[in-house]
Amino acid sequence: MTLRYPDIFPKFTCTGTSCEDNCCKMGWDIEIDENTLDYYRSLGTPLGERLCSSIYEEDGCCYMSQPDGCPFLTGDGLCSVQQECGAEHISDICREHPRFYEWFGDYKEAGLGLCCEEAARLVLTHERPMLFTEKQTDEAPDDLEFSGELLRAVKTVRDRLIDVAQDRGFSVMQRLVILTYCCEDISEAVQDEDCERLKQLSGMLAIDGFRMEIVIQAQNDTEKIKQAGTAEALGRLFGVFGRMEYMGSLGEKFELDAVQAEKMLAAENGFAEGYSPFEHELENVLVYFLYRYFIKCARDFSAEERLYAAVYMTLAVRALFWREYTEKGSLPDLNRRILLVKEFSKEVEYDSDNMDIIYEEIQTTPDMRDTLCSLCRI
Ligand code: SF4
Repeated sequence: MTLRYPDIFPKFTCTGTSCEDNCCKMGWDIEIDENTLDYYRSLGTPLGERLCSSIYEEDGCCYMSQPDGCPFLTGDGLCSVQQECGAEHISDICREHPRFYEWFGDYKEAGLGLCCEEAARLVLTHERPMLFTEKQTDEAPDDLEFSGELLRAVKTVRDRLIDVAQDRGFSVMQRLVILTYCCEDISEAVQDEDCERLKQLSGMLAIDGFRMEIVIQAQNDTEKIKQAGTAEALGRLFGVFGRMEYMGSLGEKFELDAVQAEKMLAAENGFAEGYSPFEHELENVLVYFLYRYFIKCARDFSAEERLYAAVYMTLAVRALFWREYTEKGSLPDLNRRILLVKEFSKEVEYDSDNMDIIYEEIQTTPDMRDTLCSLCRI
């Protein structure tokens, strides 16, 4: 098996009892893998009985219900299953979280999910462009079907999209615009499984002059788009995230009236100037969304949704920072930005109903490219 991962992947260590938002307390029902379930059933101890009584079955999978957080967490924040049975007997998901994986036969990708504050810290404080490494492992190949040719073409085009996201010759807003302008062509080629066209597009995206041409074209177009109303585009962005369901207080951050929108627009230049030394944070967030989700279109052909959603979510994260700047008159500090990114990931990216709202918006908005470009205001 070839395993690909970003350079922060091996650096992750769970901060455990010092974590401010311990994932064991989130109240998520977690999937219990078969081996772990068999072990719990074989225990025959009071702990085994408690474990089994918390597990329910749905659609052929078993889950542990924990509406108030994991019932096996001790008062000092440690795992009582690990203490009593050993680390090898906690479930796969408990052992692996926040790591994520994607399998394609003898090729596997890994990364760290932003819903964990330590992973978010590693992503936001990584000042150099994120690098990806491959190594060989002895894991057996996965047997789910896919087209190897399409996967190779999608991987190549995604590499170029990540190159664009990391091209520091452009501002992050300009990089988002380049990605947005390429979306339609890439989406068509993926849907037609036209691997030659994807290779051509990858080649074009590798050329600096091609990227610059798009930015110039977008600047001309944006003049028209700006006149059509950036306030409207901002309202639409907040409207999409504002109609999602949230467990915590993030939803309030996406409630925006016309007066607040005007205040944000008036403060945008100050925000952009103050935030410019930290643009690598948004770059890494964008690279994370591209790396994690775009590859899935090699199976489900949803390149447009994956690419626009990466741009949309990066703009939403920026909008959270920008809104706090507008309200407080100063940038949220690094710890606050890490918290906002972690909350955004936990509440939006890790909630399939909320993600469906983004995908639906993309599918039903005919001028999505213009909406995104007017938000980028290059
Ligand atoms: S959220 Fe991350 S750092 Fe916190 S307990 Fe979970 S894995 Fe550890």
